[in-house]
Amino acid sequence: MKKILLISLLSTTYIFSNINAVVSILPQETFVKAIGGDKVDVTLMVRPGNSPHTYEPKPSQMIEIAKADLYFAIDVEFENVWLPKFKNLNSNMQVIDLADNITKLQIQKAQKKKSKSEEHAGHAHHDAHDHEGDDPHIWTAPANVKIIAQNIYDALVKNDAKNSDYYKKNLEIFLASVDKTDKQVSHILSTLQESRRFMVFHPSWGYFAKAYNLEQIAVEVEGKEPKPKELIHLLKEAKEEKVNAIFTQPEFSDTIAKIIAKELQIPVVKVSPLSSNWSQTLIKIANTIAGNN
Ligand code: ZN
Repeated sequence: MKKILLISLLSTTYIFSNINAVVSILPQETFVKAIGGDKVDVTLMVRPGNSPHTYEPKPSQMIEIAKADLYFAIDVEFENVWLPKFKNLNSNMQVIDLADNITKLQIQKAQKKKSKSEEHAGHAHHDAHDHEGDDPHIWTAPANVKIIAQNIYDALVKNDAKNSDYYKKNLEIFLASVDKTDKQVSHILSTLQESRRFMVFHPSWGYFAKAYNLEQIAVEVEGKEPKPKELIHLLKEAKEEKVNAIFTQPEFSDTIAKIIAKELQIPVVKVSPLSSNWSQTLIKIANTIAGNN
């Protein structure tokens, strides 16, 4: 009992962190902790199991915002609505955009291939509704994570220069670990022969796909479950493309994915791009695509 009390006293009194930082999503927490170590206290906004496309912060999280020195944004959708409110609440808080210096891809337009008969049936107008815009899931490619890490480092040094050596050392260790993951993923995928296509419910893996010369086929159409007609089209496409697995993530329903998986006799693999273990997640998805499990 005494020991516990002493430790909690020490941690509140002496071992206080230098910077209070807020991040939007869990992988960012992993990256900021890797570089900031015990000098940075990290608060997470989008809690596990929730989607950064639709998240609404809890009142307790607004209290954390009020205390924060830095907000590490990453251009996920909920930030569009909430960042201005956060800034109103805490005008002293600096907002750092971790997507700075990253070249964005366009979000994949699903279901763009329409057959002639479908067009004649009056479905051609669908294409006009397709949303075009930047794909926000930038952290699924190692090269982007290295830029994100550099952006985190720059912001920490700017705000806490006396610990710059400490942050520099952490940055170097982290960059080396990202390179290691990148090499592992490349090695796993080097055995891939037939199809370089994989199916996902939500198109989270566009940057990963591009980095390793793969192609993701998304089930979602404009952020919604496909209609029966679109589903039939998708099944046909998946059969032709010989996909090995369909990936779902716990943040979204997997009902449709299960239907597709049953039809194609392929496994449904639940893997979240929002996992805290960034490296393990990339290796898992690579192994599944390569048919290693
Ligand atoms: Zn998403």
